Amino acid sequence: MIIKDIDNLELPEYIIIGGGPAGITLAIQLEKKNRKVLLIEAGGREFNEKIQSHYKGDVYGDKYFDLEYTRLRYLGGSSNHWGGNCAPLDRYDIEKWPLNFNEIDSFKKETKNILEIKNNFVKNESSIFNSFELSSIENGYVNFGEKYYDQLKKSQNIFLLMETSVLNLESNENGKEVTSINLKIKNKSKKIILNLNKVIVACGGLENSRLLLWSKEISKNSFLKNLPIGKYWMEHPSGEIGHCIGKKDVVEKVFKKKNYFLVPSENFIKNEKINNVRFSVQFWEANGKKSLKHILKDLVCLAPNYGKKIIESFSNQVVHCVSAIKFSVEQKPKIENDITLSKTKFDKYKIPQIKLNWNIGDDVFFTLKKSLEKLGQEFIENDIGRIGIDKYVYDQSFKKANDIFANHHHMGGTIMSNLDNVGVVDQNLRVKNTSNLYVLGSSVFPTGGHFNPTFTIVQLSLRLAKHLTT
Ligand SMILES: Cc1cc2nc3c(=O)[nH]c(=O)nc-3n(C[C@H](O)[C@H](O)[C@H](O)COP(=O)(O)OP(=O)(O)OC[C@H]3O[C@@H](n4cnc5c(N)ncnc54)[C@H](O)[C@@H]3O)c2cc1C
Repeated sequence: MIIKDIDNLELPEYIIIGGGPAGITLAIQLEKKNRKVLLIEAGGREFNEKIQSHYKGDVYGDKYFDLEYTRLRYLGGSSNHWGGNCAPLDRYDIEKWPLNFNEIDSFKKETKNILEIKNNFVKNESSIFNSFELSSIENGYVNFGEKYYDQLKKSQNIFLLMETSVLNLESNENGKEVTSINLKIKNKSKKIILNLNKVIVACGGLENSRLLLWSKEISKNSFLKNLPIGKYWMEHPSGEIGHCIGKKDVVEKVFKKKNYFLVPSENFIKNEKINNVRFSVQFWEANGKKSLKHILKDLVCLAPNYGKKIIESFSNQVVHCVSAIKFSVEQKPKIENDITLSKTKFDKYKIPQIKLNWNIGDDVFFTLKKSLEKLGQEFIENDIGRIGIDKYVYDQSFKKANDIFANHHHMGGTIMSNLDNVGVVDQNLRVKNTSNLYVLGSSVFPTGGHFNPTFTIVQLSLRLAKHLTT
C-alpha cells in the first residue's frame, strides 16, 4: 500500500531503501513469503528535476557521463530508461566471488520470468574460430516502476513511502547494529525511524556507496569504520574499436544472429591473462541512398590508402569500413577507481555530492589488443575477411577522445569478499561487522564481466530474499 508518512506505522521486519530493480524485486519476494516490508523511495512515479538534482556529482579521470543523468531517482530507478539488454555472467566471471556459481545460476529461470525473457541464452557456443565462441544477449525490457506499481499499491505487506530520501543510518554504541534511519519526507520536517530489525540499502551502484560513506563520516563510533567503502568501482568500457572488411554474408554467418557476440574462450582468457570481453559487428545500411560519408567509406575498401587519405583530410576521425567492430569489456577492480564524498559540494539536504574517480586501465587496452589481434589472425586463417584495429588500442588515445567509452553500468564500491581489507559485504550481502545491515545491487559485484549488470542484480535480489527468510 502507498503510505505518505511513518507516524502510526507499525514498523515492518524489513526496511528496503531504494525502489529500483533491486529493491522492488526484493520487496516482492519478501511479500510472497508473507513478510512485511517498508520500501522507501526517494522519487515519486515520474521524473522530477529537483529530486533528480540530488544525483549531481563530479567525475575525475577518464571522460564519463554526467552523474546527475547516468541514473534516475524515481520509482523503478534507472529501469525507467535502461536498454533492457540482459545476460547472466559467465561461470568464470564469478570465480573470484565468495560464492559458488550455482548459488546464482539457480535463480536464472525466475530472473528470466521477472525480466520477461522468453529465449534461452546462448552461452559459449562453438564458432568457426579456435579462440572465440558465441554468446547471446536477450532483451528483458521491463520498467520496474510501471510493472510493479499496482502490485505495490494493492499489497497489504509492502508499505511504499515515496518522495522520501534516506539521509543517513545510525548504529548502537558499539557500531555493530543499525538502530535508526534519518529521512526526509516531501513537505515534512526530518524524521527518524527507530527500533529497526533488518535494513537493506538498494540505492544503485553509485548511491549505495554514498549513503554508507556519509553514514560512516558522521557516525561518532566505529560504525562502518575500516571498511573500504567506495573502492574498486568498475564500469564496462565499450564503444567502436575497429573495422572489419569482408563479404557481408560471410561475416554474418560467423555471428549467426544480430544478438550474438564473439567472446574469447575460457582457455584464451586464462592463457593470455586477459579480461573477459565481447565483440560484435555493425554493418552500414545503404537503404538505396548512401551518404557522402558512406560512399567515402566504401572507397576506403576499394583503395584503402588513397581513400583513407581523403577521408582523414576531411575529418580527424578514425575511419571505419564495411562494418564497425564494437566491444564491451571487463575492467579489473582497482582500488584507485573510487567514490569519495565532496568536501565543498552538497545536495539540498546538505549531504556531500559524489566524487567519482574513474580511469580505464592498461588491463583494458591489453585485453583489446590481444583479443583483436587474435581475432584478426583467425579471420585471415578462415578466409573471412580482414580486421582493422583502431589506433586507440595502441596509443590509448580514446582516453582523450570526446566520446565516452562506458555503458552506464555502475559496479563495485561495496564489494563482496571474504578478505577484510577488500570486502564491504560478506557472501550474504551483510555489511561486515554489522548484524542487520545489507547492501543490494551491482555495487556488491567483486568483478563485473562484460555482460550488462541487471540480470545479475535480479538474481542477487532473489538470493537475498531466500537468505533473509530461511
Ligand atoms: C541509459 C541506461 C541504459 C542502461 N541499459 C542497461 C541495459 O541494457 N542492461 C542492463 O543490464 N543495465 C542497463 N542499465 C543499468 C541498469 O539500469 C541498472 O543496472 C539498474 O537499474 C540498477 O538497479 P538498482 O535497483 O540497483 O539501482 P537503481 O536503478 O539506481 O535504483 C535505485 C533506486 O533507489 C532510489 N534511491 C537512491 N538513493 C536513495 C535514498 N537516499 N533514499 C531513498 N531512495 C533512494 C532511487 O530513486 C532509485 O529508484 C542502464 C542504465 C542506464 C542509465
